[in-house]
Amino acid sequence: MYGFVNRDIKSSVYKAVSKFLVENCDEDWRKMPANSASFNLMFGERNKLPFGRLGHEPGLFQLVNYYRGSDMICRKTAMIRVFKEELKRRPGMFPKWLPMSFIICPKKISENAKQMGEASVAAMRKVARPDDRQELVETDAALVQQEKKRIVWIAKSAAGAKGEGIKISQDVDELIAFIDTQAQGFIVQKYILNPFLLDGDRKFDIRCWVLLDSNYNVYFFREGVLRTASESYKPENYNDVTSHLTNHCLQKELSANFGEYETGNELFFDEFNSYLKKKTRMTMDNTIIPQIKEIIKKVLLMIKDRISTNMLGYGSFQLFGFDFLLDSQLQVHLIEINGAPACAQKLLPDLARCIVQTAIDPIFKPKSAKGRGDNWFSKI
Ligand code: ADP
Ligand code: MG
Ligand code: MG
Ligand code: MG
Repeated sequence: MYGFVNRDIKSSVYKAVSKFLVENCDEDWRKMPANSASFNLMFGERNKLPFGRLGHEPGLFQLVNYYRGSDMICRKTAMIRVFKEELKRRPGMFPKWLPMSFIICPKKISENAKQMGEASVAAMRKVARPDDRQELVETDAALVQQEKKRIVWIAKSAAGAKGEGIKISQDVDELIAFIDTQAQGFIVQKYILNPFLLDGDRKFDIRCWVLLDSNYNVYFFREGVLRTASESYKPENYNDVTSHLTNHCLQKELSANFGEYETGNELFFDEFNSYLKKKTRMTMDNTIIPQIKEIIKKVLLMIKDRISTNMLGYGSFQLFGFDFLLDSQLQVHLIEINGAPACAQKLLPDLARCIVQTAIDPIFKPKSAKGRGDNWFSKI
């Protein structure tokens, strides 16, 4: 008999995984009190996970649902830093699938934190770090020369989510001045101006679920979702939030047409594939999915040496949400990576089941195959 604890009470995904274990695995798994120390499997709280205390129970292999250090790709500034360091190590081109990006750190970051009501010691100790502002200004000027038009940039905060605090502008000085009033680092990224538009009119982004198992195998979940805008794309008005930002919560809150075109502004891969075939004669499988898989593999392999648990006394696995934008040429661009993604309600039971089948069953062999089925995760 194995024991698991669930401390990740805010996560709908791990709630569903726990439910699966309780309902289908009563011969193998027992749910233990959240503070129990002698568990085999822990669904931990992402930001408070006691990694240092794992793997010290004699005779017990412990598995946990996050990789220590995965924030280096899940925080926006950290991800760009990782890419730029990689570029220094292995000179070449910035990958064409990652929009050109610069890190900007507010000059008076601790004063701003104080003014914004952040009273913690950590907030007071924030120091302005050297950043890419000079390079951003110079690059912008060079690109304006080259392209004979203003360049559009999008500023996003390091830890921001749900489209909050995002600013789009053609004026880099304005963006830098804005960031200098903030209490966290930002990235300023080239705005993708020519997204593929649904019905020639509406923007969307693509969410893919990716699972990394404790042996660092990468798996791609075959069902994914497009999160659509329910307002027309307005290339001339960057302040129109619902036209440019496809975040589900923003659309729900701010668009009068939410749900009008797609239920919940969500379009699933099979539905989009039919649309694509009709409009372009291309399919997801022959154009988009191969690009997506390539990007996922590259990014996760880049940080393998730094986060792998191979040599440690415990094992990690982690579900990631990779978000992409498609341009009008059907080129895929990486937008961000979420380290604790939520999941569309419709897919949740299958996602939970497949997490168990892929990341947990191979380590803790179940006595029966109860509840198991077709695995939607495939190794890439
Ligand atoms: P958040 O963590 O707030 O969701 P994202 O990086 O996902 O931040 O950005 C929010 C939304 O803004 C995306 O879903 C996408 O619609 C749009 N967006 C982000 N980056 C770009 C970009 N470089 N070009 C065009 N649109 C973008
Ligand atoms: Mg995010
Ligand atoms: Mg997100
Ligand atoms: Mg996002």
